[in-house]
Order: sequence, then C-alpha cells, then structure tokens
Amino acid sequence: MAMRRVLALSRRRVLPLLADAILPADCLACGRPLRVEHRLGACLECWARLRPLLPPLCLSCGLPAPRDSDLLGPAGGRCAACVLDPPPHGGARAAVAYDDDARRFLLAAKLSGRRRLLEPLGEQLAAAVRASGLAEGCTLVVPVPAHPWRRLARGYDPAGDLARVAASRLGLPLGTRFLARRILAAPAAKRLPAVRRAKAAAAAFRALRPTRGERVLLVDDVMTTGSTAAACAIALVRAGAVEVRVAVWARTLPGSPAGPRGRRPDRRL
Ligand SMILES: [Zn+2]
Ligand SMILES: [Zn+2]
Repeated sequence: MAMRRVLALSRRRVLPLLADAILPADCLACGRPLRVEHRLGACLECWARLRPLLPPLCLSCGLPAPRDSDLLGPAGGRCAACVLDPPPHGGARAAVAYDDDARRFLLAAKLSGRRRLLEPLGEQLAAAVRASGLAEGCTLVVPVPAHPWRRLARGYDPAGDLARVAASRLGLPLGTRFLARRILAAPAAKRLPAVRRAKAAAAAFRALRPTRGERVLLVDDVMTTGSTAAACAIALVRAGAVEVRVAVWARTLPGSPAGPRGRRPDRRL
C-alpha cells in the first residue's frame, strides 16, 4: 500500500519534472511559456504563422509567380527569370516562405540543439513535395551535405534529417553518401549569371559515387540565392543523374531582405 502511494506520488511529481527537463520551457519563436502539450518547441500560434508557399508557383524555381508573369503561356509554367536564366535543376519546391518566423524555427533546429524540430519540418517539406508532384519519377533522395566542420560542431546534419523524413514519407530510398562538400573551396563570383555561378560553385561539391540513371530529389533546409542547390545539381548530373529536383523547407522570396534580389545569404546558418 505504501509502495503504491510512493509510485503514485512519483508519477505525479517526477514525470512533470522530467518533462520540464527534457522539453523546452518557452516557445522558440515568441518566448512565451509553453504548456507541456506543445512538445515541439513552439506554441500553436507560432506554428500557424509559418506561411506556406501555395500555387501559382513557377515550375522551375518554385517562387510565387510575379503578377506580370504568364505561367500558363508559352513559357511552360516558368517565370521570366527562369526562362532567361534557366537553373540546372528540373524544378524546385519549398514548404514555407523564409521569413522571420521561419528563420526562428530553423535557427532553433540548427543552432539551439532542438533537433527534434526537424521532424515536423520534414513532414511539411514532404507534404509540399507530394502536393506539387515534384517527386514523381524520382528514384533517390539526397541531402545537401553540411560543411564538415559545421557537422562536427553540431553533431548532426539538419538537411540530412529533413531528407530522412522526406524519403520515409515519400517512400523513396535515402542516399546520404552520394555528395560531399569540399572543405576548401573558393566562393563563386556573385556577378556571374546563375548557371555560370552554379558551375563555378559546383567545385565546392563532389559526387562520391555514380548516380547513373537516377532521378534525384535533392533536399535542403533553406534556399536563398539557389546557388548551393544548383551546384549540387550540377555535381549529381555530372555523376550520371538523369535529372535533379530540389525540395527545401523554406525559400526566401524576391524583395525580402535575404531574398534572391537582395543577395544576402544567411551566413549564421
Ligand atoms: Zn510562440
Ligand atoms: Zn522561376
């Protein structure tokens, strides 16, 4: 009887203490105290503030169509920028816009050690890919490899976690050993057109094994200028891939401070 009382007491007292120790106490985005049911680090209001990227989107770069673009016309669903300067991949899709709210989620997942957060973010990425049909015909999911030093410092690879969740939800094999990032690589000149910049940046990545005949779904956490994804796509195609498509969790939008026009890649990540 006494033992039963001790057990009941420990369940009431110890479990909440354990939960408090394991679970974050404040919302990672707004800082308000979390109730225990908000197990993934953010309050429901902050989750709801993430902005999904919904059609009409350019089939090539995945950006929302500018008002003056003609996605149904002869451009074949591509925006004017992609017609003039086509990216070396077969299409890109993002789950959400990379704004201040999305940035807080990603920083928490990448810099504050809240690795579990990558699971729902990966689910969002997989849902966006499924809704767009981007993965149709794909045979392999490959994450953009982290810089070896960052991976060492962090102990995990956020894009790798997102790719694992996406591969599992989409029912595709995951290939974590197809691409590597060179430790020392010269930065690509920023004034070059996208394709030439990507070709120069492609030197930063090398294929570790052939991708002959594969149609690759390349996964990354965030896309700013798109040059990293383009560089990986070029490296994978050189290794034999038929096509590379790009899925990211968040995408900077034109006109935003960190967007493609502003060209301010996020160096803290
Ligand atoms: Zn919040
Ligand atoms: Zn486009």
